[in-house]
Amino acid sequence: MKPLKDLVRLNIWDLAPYSSARNEYSGHVAHVFLDANENPYNSPFNRYPDPLQLEVKALLSKIKGVPVENIFLGNGSDEAIDLAYRVFCSPDQDNAVAIEPTYGMYKVCADINDVEYRPVLLDADYQITAEKLLSACDEKTKLIWICSPNNPTANNINREEIVEILRGFQGIVVVDEAYSDFSRQQTFRSELGKYANLIVLNTMSKAWGAAAIRLGMAFASKDIIDLFNKVKYPYNVNLLTQKQAIEALRDPYQVQDWVKAILNERTRLVCAFRDLPCVMKVYPTDANFFLAKMTDAQGIYDYLVRMGIVVRNRTRVSLCGNCLRITVGTKSENNELLSALRSM
Ligand code: PMP
Repeated sequence: MKPLKDLVRLNIWDLAPYSSARNEYSGHVAHVFLDANENPYNSPFNRYPDPLQLEVKALLSKIKGVPVENIFLGNGSDEAIDLAYRVFCSPDQDNAVAIEPTYGMYKVCADINDVEYRPVLLDADYQITAEKLLSACDEKTKLIWICSPNNPTANNINREEIVEILRGFQGIVVVDEAYSDFSRQQTFRSELGKYANLIVLNTMSKAWGAAAIRLGMAFASKDIIDLFNKVKYPYNVNLLTQKQAIEALRDPYQVQDWVKAILNERTRLVCAFRDLPCVMKVYPTDANFFLAKMTDAQGIYDYLVRMGIVVRNRTRVSLCGNCLRITVGTKSENNELLSALRSM
């Protein structure tokens, strides 16, 4: 990896960040707060929340096995995706390389930040070689995006290829493991000490059943986390989200039960799909969803919508012609989907 200073935008490296009232008095126990122009009434909502969310991070640190100083929390992992561009990519100069197809926000955030986005097609098994991905990079490539398990294809990207990319690339590699709780592949979170150029993304929106609270996380070296914290909005994670996250993180066993139930239903749903006349192929899945090639994705999608059932039509996405992406629901939701497809 190049020295971090050579990868970060100069204006960000030199940035003097906003210093919030709550950042400045650390080391003392205070009880009168006349520092932040808040209203003294309407507790607890009158007060700004902890800008660094330390109580949430202390719980996460134990569950994820990552030290607090290596954790960034954001308004969904989408915030971390955008921050990666704002920290590392100079608009109209630098570029980012990603597998294709993949999660759409990597490209949207590149476009918003005026950064060239270079998609590299997966093969027919939805895999990529390190060699192919690295050959799309040049001296202006600051970021590589790898989503594993990948959205929308649902499969893990081969771990050895990701390792080779981490070793072979001089810039930052973001491994988005939003769906890793559903997968048996070893997470890259535990490899932060090995790769200084690694950022791993996780979210509360999937296995943790908390998409509504908007809490995503990035795990990386302390130097990278410090840069993210410098650029983020001062109070980017609100009090209600922090409170709800703390409650959820105190009961991690509930998540294991949900994951087990979802994986059981996934097996049942995938088997049933294989027997449906309107299904041509079900692709292998390591996530809480799967991709199915249909006889007529658009027609079936429209039919399901008319029945009040919404799936994701991916037919216009590269390598996903005639494919629907199906999220695994509850047993009764899945049964409703199956009976609708059987009575088409
Ligand atoms: N990464 C991937 C691969 C996703 O599929 C999604 C959401 N669909 C996200 C990140 C964004 O998650 P969050 O809700 O944490 O913003």
